[in-house]
Amino acid sequence: MIERKCPKCSEWNKDEDHCIKCGEALSPVAVMAKREKKRVEEEAAKPPSKFDLFLERAKNSKYLLVRWGYYVMYSVFMVIGAIGAFMAWLVAMANG
Ligand SMILES: [Zn+2]
Repeated sequence: MIERKCPKCSEWNKDEDHCIKCGEALSPVAVMAKREKKRVEEEAAKPPSKFDLFLERAKNSKYLLVRWGYYVMYSVFMVIGAIGAFMAWLVAMANG
């Protein structure tokens, strides 16, 4: 039998995932789940960056030209990313 002392209210719990008194996460699994949940919540609460907003606006623009511009820019970024990955692969091969 494992006994865990609650870090929050100092209550001794038997093999519980959460404190019987205050509900604080006690087991490593519960603590990790809590941390992950908090991280996801923080990520969701973060306002989108100006660049994200700009992209979103361009994508949904009523002007066809702006939407095209978005897709052209997006494609260019993709190609640059692909070339970058290819270069990194080449360098890795050359050194290997
Ligand atoms: Zn507690």
